[in-house]
Amino acid sequence: MNKSIILYIDDEQENLQSFKMTFWKFYDILLAENTAEAEEMLNKNTVELVISDQKMVGESGLEFIARIKGSYPHTLFILLTAYSDLNIAIEAVNIGVDRYIQKPWDYNELKHAIDNALEKYQLRIKNNELVDELKEINNKLRKSNEDLIKSTLELDKNQALLSAIYNNLPILVFLLDSTYNVLKVNRTGKLMANATEEELIGKNCCRVLKCAEFLYYEKVDPAKKTCSACVIQDAVNNSFEHKSNQYTNEGKLELLQNGTTKNMFVLVTTTFIKQDNNSVLLSIQDITVQKEHEQELKIQFEKTEALNEKLAAAVIKSKEGERLKSSILANISHEIRTPLNGILGFSDMLVNPNIEDSKKEVFSDVIKESSSRLLRVINDLLDISNIEIEDAKLVIESVCVNNILNDLKARFSRRAKKKGLALKLNTPATKLQSSTLTDRLRLIQIFDNLIGNAIKFTPEGTIEFGYKSIDENFNFYVSDTGIGIEQELFDKIFDGFYQVEMDTTREYSGIGIGLAITKKLLGFMGGKIWLESELNVGTTFYFTIPNNKI
Ligand code: ADP
Repeated sequence: MNKSIILYIDDEQENLQSFKMTFWKFYDILLAENTAEAEEMLNKNTVELVISDQKMVGESGLEFIARIKGSYPHTLFILLTAYSDLNIAIEAVNIGVDRYIQKPWDYNELKHAIDNALEKYQLRIKNNELVDELKEINNKLRKSNEDLIKSTLELDKNQALLSAIYNNLPILVFLLDSTYNVLKVNRTGKLMANATEEELIGKNCCRVLKCAEFLYYEKVDPAKKTCSACVIQDAVNNSFEHKSNQYTNEGKLELLQNGTTKNMFVLVTTTFIKQDNNSVLLSIQDITVQKEHEQELKIQFEKTEALNEKLAAAVIKSKEGERLKSSILANISHEIRTPLNGILGFSDMLVNPNIEDSKKEVFSDVIKESSSRLLRVINDLLDISNIEIEDAKLVIESVCVNNILNDLKARFSRRAKKKGLALKLNTPATKLQSSTLTDRLRLIQIFDNLIGNAIKFTPEGTIEFGYKSIDENFNFYVSDTGIGIEQELFDKIFDGFYQVEMDTTREYSGIGIGLAITKKLLGFMGGKIWLESELNVGTTFYFTIPNNKI
């Protein structure tokens, strides 16, 4: 263990040596003959105790101690005097000398005084250390206190902000326990439930909201606390079950408010409160208006989509129409020019005086045929324009259908024969049974069209027409063994100006409105038309007209 350092000051060498000889075993002793030497040693060493003679040449012990004491606050001082002087003693106490001993010193007294002083020094040091430590602790405490105040203020501020948000939210917020009982409620919650906080706390949230389904179940089975498919309970249960942070649900709620039922579409959000472990924050937002808008938008969107589709179809149709128009016009002009050319050409030849009589007959046949072809085209065109403006007036009269059909057979047999086709008529009823009230000319026109087509589109075989039976309708038909029609075109051929072969280089004459006129006419007459056909096998058109008895 290190020995304590003691500085002994005396201007007499003898005294210095006798002190050192007496105490060297106990302490580390520094000796100084004057105060200047002593001061130097004090600066260089950690001196615990200074023992100084009072009366010395130059500066006295007291003067020295008084001058330097402030610079060495821990060091202790013992003053040695040769005689007893009360004034010195008082002054020594005043300047803080720790002990005052008379010379010649007594060993025991001095040893005791030295040990006392050294003990005091150690205590002083310890004390100082403690004070420093205390100061440090104090500083730390003050600092953490300041921090605490600061964070408390911050917390208060956040708390106030949160509470403002919580209360001003236009959304209902309930803090619920696991039995759906309300622990806390915000302002919107109170408004929606139309109740005060005291009335809501501890009550089932579905009951306080007056959910119609919940109230119904509660009435039927009071022990049952849950509904079958409730948006609120589903969300709350999910949060408790999975302890999941957040769960969102959308659905309908039926609330009984002020005696009426209010149907709402709601967005429900639940948040599991981990810190508590036993509560869930539930928010309910009324999104009825939003949903209605969404629905409206959806309908509008669908309408727009449908309109777009129609527009697109119309654009395609109009383009197609444009194309058709030019091909139809070309066709009509071809169908008018061809017989006209025939008429003009053969009329010129007919007036030639050098022509033989036998040829004249052939020429006049051609002119007749061309004229009737031209007349058919013109009649058809006039008819379709009349029918388009719904102006086909029917002339109803008493007719014998069998007679009409026989006339038609007579008229078409020449044309059929010319093409090598057999023409058959089927009239299973008697003339009397076949008498009815109808428009004779229109009926003839319909047969004209269908038989004309049958002959036109049949290269070989048989044409058969007539009726299969007569009940409340006449069940007519015209069948052929001709080129047939593809099934996809069954509807199209009844559209005006539609022909399976559309270009002018086509094999068959006609302007493509015969069937359109036929269908329209049958519509006016209270009948209908349809067909069966197979490509390269033949076609049968069926049509009916009412059997109006005379
Ligand atoms: P057109 O005979 O003047 O062309 P229609 O309206 O009478 O006009 O007929 C429309 C189209 O229907 C014809 O161009 C032809 O392509 C088809 N068609 C009508 N009848 C028959 C039939 N018996 N056999 C085959 N195709 C037919």
